[in-house]
Amino acid sequence: MQEFSRGIRKSSSSLGFVPTMGALHEGHLSLIRRAVAECQFVVASIFVNPLQFGPTEDFEKYPRTLEDDRSKLEVVGVSALFAPDTADMYPLGAVTTVTVAGLGDRLDGASRPGHFTGVATVVAKLLHTVGPHRAYFGQKDAVQLAVLRQMVRDLNFDVELVGCPIVRDADGLALSSRNRYLNVVERGQALVIRRCLLAIERSISAGVLEREILLADGLRVLREEPGVRVDYLEVVDAKTLLPVERVGAGNLVAVAVWVGTTRLIDNFLVGLKA
Ligand code: AMP
Repeated sequence: MQEFSRGIRKSSSSLGFVPTMGALHEGHLSLIRRAVAECQFVVASIFVNPLQFGPTEDFEKYPRTLEDDRSKLEVVGVSALFAPDTADMYPLGAVTTVTVAGLGDRLDGASRPGHFTGVATVVAKLLHTVGPHRAYFGQKDAVQLAVLRQMVRDLNFDVELVGCPIVRDADGLALSSRNRYLNVVERGQALVIRRCLLAIERSISAGVLEREILLADGLRVLREEPGVRVDYLEVVDAKTLLPVERVGAGNLVAVAVWVGTTRLIDNFLVGLKA
């Protein structure tokens, strides 16, 4: 892949990269379409990264649909697919990891210890391997994006990270490869996530800016669904991921819940389209 990319960079003015774990949906494809529109050559990767899954998480059962993914990538005009296996990415004896201190332990990082070290490590390796000018990530994983922006800044990666808007189903549920774990009842219960974020958005529009009141508004909505367990609901600075007492433009309102055994996340940036 490294050798291939070196050749591409010689012949193309811009190399775009979209890393994924596969089980591709319209959210992934929106990143890829954007990359295809903005770059001369686009590489997508599919790699279910064992390093970012905790011991009790869904690594084994994570959906793997390579053939289906490959056809989708062809349709949207990806130039190359990089789909390494675990032994390629982590050869025996590999011991180096990338940890983004502080940021990597907040929000999802607090609930999923070690997750963002896994993410930062694999993205660092993928960026070194593919060597893109631009790499595209979804705002859906807002904490991931903040962690990766910090890593790129701290470690002088020569790449521009492009954040892309959240793609949702018609009923408002953010698309996720994990939505396919939901049964019909849970799928209905999961809609409370969107209602919660919309309630907070409405309060902000009405001039309510205090974190505590906004969180209370959101939690009230989440409690309408007893089947849904809150992991976190927070209003934070989008860069530092630290809570803000009064919300302002560009702040991040983020939520994570459990619906049955499935963990779902969603968010919006204040004053910007979700
Ligand atoms: P994943 O395969 O879950 O690792 O996701 C690969 C990329 O797609 C990440 O940058 C995600 O943030 C992005 N992504 C996943 N779901 C969505 C969505 N609903 N809207 C926009 N981007 C998404």
